[in-house]
Amino acid sequence: MTTPNPVIKLHNTKTRKKSEFTPIDANNVRMYLCGPTVYDRAHLGNARPVVVFDVLYRLLRHCYGADHVTYVRNFTDVDDKINATALARKAAGAAGTLEELVAERTEETIGWYLSDMGKLGALEPGHMPRATQYIRQMVTMIQNLIAKGHAYADGAGHVLFSVKSYENYGQLSGRSVDDMIAGARVEVADNKRDPMDFVLWKPSTEELPGWDSPWGRGRPGWHIECSAMSQELLGATFDIHAGGNDLMFPHHENEIAQSCCANGDDSFARYWLHNEMLQVEGKKMSKSLGNFFTVHDLLDQGIPGEVIRFVFLQTHYRKPMDWTEKKAKEAEATLRKWRALTAGIEPAANAAAAVLDALADDLNTAGAIAEMHKLAAAGDGPGLLASAQLMGLLSEALGDWAATPDLDLSAYATQLLDARETAMQSKDFSQVDRLKAAFVAAGLEVRMSKAGVELVPGPRFDPAKLEGL
Ligand SMILES: [Zn+2]
Repeated sequence: MTTPNPVIKLHNTKTRKKSEFTPIDANNVRMYLCGPTVYDRAHLGNARPVVVFDVLYRLLRHCYGADHVTYVRNFTDVDDKINATALARKAAGAAGTLEELVAERTEETIGWYLSDMGKLGALEPGHMPRATQYIRQMVTMIQNLIAKGHAYADGAGHVLFSVKSYENYGQLSGRSVDDMIAGARVEVADNKRDPMDFVLWKPSTEELPGWDSPWGRGRPGWHIECSAMSQELLGATFDIHAGGNDLMFPHHENEIAQSCCANGDDSFARYWLHNEMLQVEGKKMSKSLGNFFTVHDLLDQGIPGEVIRFVFLQTHYRKPMDWTEKKAKEAEATLRKWRALTAGIEPAANAAAAVLDALADDLNTAGAIAEMHKLAAAGDGPGLLASAQLMGLLSEALGDWAATPDLDLSAYATQLLDARETAMQSKDFSQVDRLKAAFVAAGLEVRMSKAGVELVPGPRFDPAKLEGL
């Protein structure tokens, strides 16, 4: 095992303090991140926890050794929206049973997700469990909770967790049960003994996905999925549980209640990490404001995944992050410069100490990037490269966009210049417009001035599209 160096400090939501991180077992550091519900493409906000906790995963691997970190990120593949898409496809005449159409939707969404997150440079966790593969463990955990008096069946196919049976409920987010009810989006229902009680199991209709259980054919509630999967893959007690701070209540409170009541109060995650939310141009991202987009939308616009990653990491994970076009442009320019500085050289044996120290200080990625600017200014290519690669930047896999094609564009510039001169005489600019449009379509930026014409390859430059001009 590599000696942990430097000392990692993490802000623990549970204690509201930054403290030294000491794993239960340095030979097997264990971390869980709540993954996506796979009903559609991931939006930009969904990608933030994936990228920031990917840096934590890389840091832990660096400090404890790549084989000594177990990282689990689940897929929630039981969901009404998945079912709705499958039902809509069936109604539109798609072939296959509803079950097959549900599986098809899940498969395609998981495929998109892994592809998009891969383009952001996120390493795939060692375990990516799907909820539907852990139903047996969920049923066992629910039976255990009923046996211990923490849950009850309503006789009509539901099982509910009794929040009053767990006196520490609300400790993670620091809210009292009364506050939670007051601010509530709590669903009051006849079958609940208390309005705060939440669903562990619910009945499923004959045509929708469901599993046999002691309470009839049904499906699990969302919260029990993470409790059961983390226990199965990481054990009843593990080191780090991470997620967006929008999941703190009720999802994480409910996970804690279920796991601690099933396994004992000192069990479950020891460090809780939460990232802040993402905004776009200073506003909350929403479909109604027209500023809602997916990771795939941005990639499709030609914004490289590496640029998105860099913009994310410029803001500390516990601060709100503002996505702006300006930041994306600046990030692209910085990465281009750094890639030019490190082209063809070998990375140093280790990341720069100052960069490591910043990352070890509660994942201060913004500080780490500031240190990397200093390395670049000092012309330390090997140090910059090793540091950037620790953060998942300047890797070969993410670098396609920045490759400067070995192509002389001057002939094309001359062609445009000639066309412009002809057009000045004839007053017919159609040929100039046609050429310009073709260059832009090939991913070139066309800069025309009195002095001449400059063609600059952009991230989506495709030389093949110049053929025939
Ligand atoms: Zn979860």
